[in-house]
Amino acid sequence: MSGRPPYEKGVHEVADRVFAYLQPDGSWGWSNAGLVRPNGNGGALLVDTLFDLKLTQEMLDAFAAVTGHIGTVVNTHANGDHCWGNQLVGDARIVASKECAEEIGAPPPETLAALVEEAPAMGVLGEFLARIFGPFDFGGITLRKPDETFEGTLTLTVDGTQVELVEVGPAHTRGDILVHVPASRVVFTGDILFVGGHPIVWAGPIGNWVSALDRILAMDVDTVVPGHGPVVGKDAVNDERDYLLWLEREAKVRFDAGLAALDAARDMIDEYRHWGERERLVVNVAAVYRELDPDRPPSFVDLFSQMAELAREP
Ligand SMILES: [Zn+2]
Repeated sequence: MSGRPPYEKGVHEVADRVFAYLQPDGSWGWSNAGLVRPNGNGGALLVDTLFDLKLTQEMLDAFAAVTGHIGTVVNTHANGDHCWGNQLVGDARIVASKECAEEIGAPPPETLAALVEEAPAMGVLGEFLARIFGPFDFGGITLRKPDETFEGTLTLTVDGTQVELVEVGPAHTRGDILVHVPASRVVFTGDILFVGGHPIVWAGPIGNWVSALDRILAMDVDTVVPGHGPVVGKDAVNDERDYLLWLEREAKVRFDAGLAALDAARDMIDEYRHWGERERLVVNVAAVYRELDPDRPPSFVDLFSQMAELAREP
């Protein structure tokens, strides 16, 4: 079978023996995962774990209904909503890019837990942090790092089915990879693709991210499982590519005119008002500014404070 499943929470078979696990609404922390099931009795391959232990266990229980043992886990990148459930996968070996493995735990779950706890005393920033991270439980998380890393590409075999890992970072983060299942014409993009909301450029450069989208467009696939949002085809990849080129062009105009990143984002925000998580635009503008002026990188706290401001503006 093949096709686009409805955007509903849970396991969906998107091709023969290939599954997506979706978590609407795809906003902050509500990430997708995937699974490639073996033909015979080998171990399955899981693409990503989730943001906290409860959500990850719920997903593993749901996948247990369609497959047996999970032999391999691939982390698409280092953001917590794609790897903080790693400790629950038992004896599976965990594979990621070398850069991803190094970035896991920056920031650590304890930092997010503390921010949520201190949020009531943090004003506008606190309200924002409580809204985006409050739904998750960061207690009990012990970071489990990948057992095996690679650079470039790596082909894994799941009981005869080839799964190709393609490193495309730095883009969203330092070590992003795509997980391509050629025989099924499916690709899991991790957070190289967001659907329905603004992507967020933590690392950049933008040019690398555009190249990553070009890699997807060049693949012979008809099913694209994004890191956040519904299962789509290549149209959505083109839409995000247009967004990144627009971002790079329009941010540079405002950089040259001497606008601060937050004012530039305010000035640009109407263009994509139909996409969620609009506050991310200020991080994205800041990423372009950083490319143009590497000597003045914004701090993490500055970026979250500016997002909090942008999120509350009408
Ligand atoms: Zn994510």
